[in-house]
Amino acid sequence: MKANPIVGHGTPVEAWRSCPLLAQLPRVEVDRLVPTGTRAVIVAPHPDDEVLGSGGLLQHLIALGRPVLLIAVTDGTASHPGSQRWPVDRLSNERPRESVEALRRLGADPLQLSWLRIGLPDSQVPASQARLQAFLQAHLKSDDVVFATWSEDGHCDHEAVGRASRAAAEAVGACVHELPIWTWHWARPQDPRVPWQRARKIALSPAMVARKRHAALAFVSQLEGDPTVGLAPVLSSRVLERLLQPFEVVFL
Ligand SMILES: [Zn+2]
Repeated sequence: MKANPIVGHGTPVEAWRSCPLLAQLPRVEVDRLVPTGTRAVIVAPHPDDEVLGSGGLLQHLIALGRPVLLIAVTDGTASHPGSQRWPVDRLSNERPRESVEALRRLGADPLQLSWLRIGLPDSQVPASQARLQAFLQAHLKSDDVVFATWSEDGHCDHEAVGRASRAAAEAVGACVHELPIWTWHWARPQDPRVPWQRARKIALSPAMVARKRHAALAFVSQLEGDPTVGLAPVLSSRVLERLLQPFEVVFL
C-alpha cells in the first residue's frame, strides 16, 4: 500500500498561480466536451467532490441545458473519526443534505439533474470496486460522457472511483474523463506524476467562481473540525483556495 500523500498543508495556491505549465494549458469548451444530445455523468466519491472538482463544469452544463446524472458513491461518514460532535449517524444525514444545498446554490434544476446515492462505506471504496463498477455499468449509456475523480488522485476512494468509472465506461462504450482534486494538494508545479499532456482547462468566469465558492460553503461539516479530538477542518481555507481558481482541469 502506498503512503498517504495528503498530509501537511500541501502546495500553496500561489505556487499553482505562478506555474507556467498550468497557465499555458489548452482550453476545452464544455459544449464540445459534452456535445448536444449527450448526458454528463459525474461520479463523486464523497459529498463535496462534485462541487470541489466540477462545480464550474456543472454550471456550464446547467447553462447549456445538458442532462446531468450525479452519482454519489459514499455518504462521506468517515470525515470525523472519533468525533462526538460529528458522529457517523449525523454525517450520514448531514453530508447528503449539504450536497442538495450546494447543488441548489449552483443553480441545478431537479428536472435537469438527477441524483443517485450508492452508500458504499467511506474510505473503503477499493474493497467495493467491483460492486461500484457493476452499478455504474447498469446505469451508464453508450453516449454518456463520464467525469470521475482521477485514478491517481491520492485518496483511495477517489482512485477506486477513477478505476471503476473507466472500466464501466469502456464496457458500455461511453466516454470517460478524469478530474484531479487532492492532486492540487500533493503535486508540485511541473510535477512529472501529473498527466499534463492530457490536461485541459475549463475556464470559469468570476461569477462562476463566486457561485462555486458559495456552493462549497454549503458543506458546513467539512468546514468544521473537532478540536476535542484534534481534528482540523477537511476544507481549510488553503484547500478551498486551491480549488477555487478561475478554471477547472480535466484529464481527457
Ligand atoms: Zn473526496
